[in-house]
Amino acid sequence: MPRTAFEVDLTRAPEELAVKGHNRWHPDIPMVETFKAGDSFRVECYDCVGGQVANDDCANDIRDADLTRSHYLSGPFGVDGAEPGDLLVVDILDIGPLPGSAWGFNGIFAKENGGGFLTEHFPEARKSCWDLRGIHASSRHIPGVRYPGIAHPGLIGCLPSRALLDEANRREAELLATDPSRVPPLVTPPYAETALMGQMTGPAAEAAAREAWRTVSPREHGGNCDIKNLSRGARVYLPVYVKDGGLSLGDLHFSQGDGEITFCGAIEMAGYIDLGVDVIKDGMAKYGVINPFFQSSPIDPQFSDYLVFQGISVDEHSGEQYYLDTQVAYRRACLNAIEYLKKFGYSGEQAYMILSTAPVEGRIGSIVDIPNACATVAVPTEIFDFDVRPTAEGPTRQVSGAGLAKTR
Ligand code: ZN
Repeated sequence: MPRTAFEVDLTRAPEELAVKGHNRWHPDIPMVETFKAGDSFRVECYDCVGGQVANDDCANDIRDADLTRSHYLSGPFGVDGAEPGDLLVVDILDIGPLPGSAWGFNGIFAKENGGGFLTEHFPEARKSCWDLRGIHASSRHIPGVRYPGIAHPGLIGCLPSRALLDEANRREAELLATDPSRVPPLVTPPYAETALMGQMTGPAAEAAAREAWRTVSPREHGGNCDIKNLSRGARVYLPVYVKDGGLSLGDLHFSQGDGEITFCGAIEMAGYIDLGVDVIKDGMAKYGVINPFFQSSPIDPQFSDYLVFQGISVDEHSGEQYYLDTQVAYRRACLNAIEYLKKFGYSGEQAYMILSTAPVEGRIGSIVDIPNACATVAVPTEIFDFDVRPTAEGPTRQVSGAGLAKTR
């Protein structure tokens, strides 16, 4: 087991650590430690909201979660010799929950607090808690399902350059200005008040916090990509924008479906991740890369049977025809899967959470057949402890047991 280069303390707030992480992206955040190419090390991480959510049966903490205090990232870590234009090669060696903390949660955020992909249909806060046992997750709040997790970091990237910081702030401010009071908002703009800037202190930290990126969006450097396949055994190639790279990560997920659709959307956990690092000099130009890319892991759940739901780019409320809009098509595919699962006794919110947390596969079937895009969501039938496949008799089994945690 490699040496632990960053420790968290789940009994304390991230702001109280002696060596602090950061919840904003900025080029000037100092390195926690610098490694040599070829080194490996262990990093501990808080969960996605820095410990604001408890393992209980009340969703008030999801309703009240402060999203400006989320994504406490562990790092940044330097790699000797990495320079702008290089690729940082990061091997995901291992991931797991911390000792004594083998649980995770999924939340549907209230519409007023960021919502989720289907917030118009499910606008209220809900929570499910998950027991993590070896490679499997199950929940007292969602009966009848059990998944093998393909754990991964929701968030991983290198520090942005000054030019990239300014460019993204400009384009996001322009989008925000088109509808500044929208609920949920179009953009999460810089917000200094709750910024934690790692080992930066004093006026320099305050000035940097006013322009630092929030962590919600993925960008050219990676960040909050929420790709379930960045799992144990994967190798990630990250564009380097500052000297020594500045690798940071966090928001560990035990399991997640493509799209992470409930937004607090995976089985969120605090945990550890073991990493190996290397550098490809001038890799961005050598391979024509401006965004991260990765080699997938040889380890994947072995599902042989899926129900695959289709969706097309027609709005479910207005019947409006959209032109090759994959977001609308994927929404319709997910809604179709949810309606199907409701016939087996699940609430809409429970089915929404199954799609968000189980290893479902989201695909674009076609994006050329005007005017409809066709998107699919593939649900493995083997995650259910009963037969969910269609038969002439119709659904014969109804799940029973506790429902999701609600607000009080
Ligand atoms: Zn997450």
